[in-house]
Amino acid sequence: TADLAELDPEIAAHIDAELGRQREGLEMIASENHTAAAVMQAQGSVLTNKYAEGYPGRRYYGGCEHVDAVETLAIERVKDLFGAGYANVQPHSGAQANASVMHALIRPGDTVLGLNLAHGGHLTHGMKLNFSGRLYNIAAYGVDESTLEVDMDEVARLARENSPKLIVAGWSAYPRHLDFARFREIADEVGAYLMVDMAHFAGLVATGLHPSPVPHAHVVTSTTHKTLAGPRGGIILTNDADIAKKVNSAVFPGQQGGPLEHVIAGKAVAFKIAASEGFRDRQERTLAGARILAERLTRPDVAEHGITVLTGGTDVHLVLVDLRDSSLDGQQGEDLLAAVDITINRNSVPFDPRPPMVTSGLRIGTPALATRGFGEEAFREVADVIAETLKAGAAGAAAAGTAGAADAGAGVGVADEVVTGLRER
Ligand code: PLP
Repeated sequence: TADLAELDPEIAAHIDAELGRQREGLEMIASENHTAAAVMQAQGSVLTNKYAEGYPGRRYYGGCEHVDAVETLAIERVKDLFGAGYANVQPHSGAQANASVMHALIRPGDTVLGLNLAHGGHLTHGMKLNFSGRLYNIAAYGVDESTLEVDMDEVARLARENSPKLIVAGWSAYPRHLDFARFREIADEVGAYLMVDMAHFAGLVATGLHPSPVPHAHVVTSTTHKTLAGPRGGIILTNDADIAKKVNSAVFPGQQGGPLEHVIAGKAVAFKIAASEGFRDRQERTLAGARILAERLTRPDVAEHGITVLTGGTDVHLVLVDLRDSSLDGQQGEDLLAAVDITINRNSVPFDPRPPMVTSGLRIGTPALATRGFGEEAFREVADVIAETLKAGAAGAAAAGTAGAADAGAGVGVADEVVTGLRER
């Protein structure tokens, strides 16, 4: 019963240090958020002690009356939130939600058509080292080289050519809406299931600020911890009773054992919060912040340094900075922003000439700052700090007068003074 700090001061100190990092810096990793204290309270509860294999009312363990009530609330709330007929709230993660859907609907060796990882897709959509790429035959679609958007005629062509059993729409790094209705038409034409992975934009969908995939897809998966701002975990939604049954068996006993009822309680709390007015306001500020960032990063004084934004803007909670024409690379951009306490991640952009560990892109998201209460004025200031930092870095890299990454890295040192000035803002 000892307190954590007393029992394990090392772990307690690391948790405190992480709290300090999250408080003092600006978290702009597009897939991250700050979940509510109430969510963490539910997640840190005695529910963690309980085994509950099975589903509410049909468990393989005794003593499940309270976790049954918790899981039922989570299911009903998420169904209401997204207008879905059936929900499974047990996946431990987004990856397990996707694995479960594939397990439910297709067989090893079947073809899956998903967005290429290098063009913004997720590992679980067919990357070769992932379970998806190892178990299934993958046929990937990409973005068009001139518009950098998904070309639906190309998706249709690839679907006809490859006869996939499953088409996956969804992304980890893409700044525009997908045409879910057209995806469904294509799936129907070739006799495939359509799975939409809305992990990134689920919070926007929940508040009506992004088109919903639920009416179009056979099945929708999501994480609960990105724009949705809940605990780390996954969900699966569908309107089809037969698919719902298959999905339930694929999650348990197909992919998982005991569900994490403490996390499911956290999900239920998050779904309640997501149905509130305040949550909608937060998602509106998330979108406004991303638009402001895109505006600031497409100004001529930024473009002069070869820095711009993929597709020229954004419709969602993130922007993808395109550094293909800049002396500054993704690694340097990430390091420079870290120096002013802004955490983002470097990201390959489509048709990236630089290697994946370096990249020519930055993925910058606004959900966590919107959760902290940032409005348009604060986002304008952050966007200016980012623009000035990247401009200074690019000027420094160019001054080094070299295309070699190492030398350019030394050149970025020229920007140190600017960065020091910005840190004080
Ligand atoms: N799907 C998409 C589109 C994602 O971006 C991610 C995470 O980055 C996942 C699934 C996987 O989620 P998790 O990290 O919870 O396994």
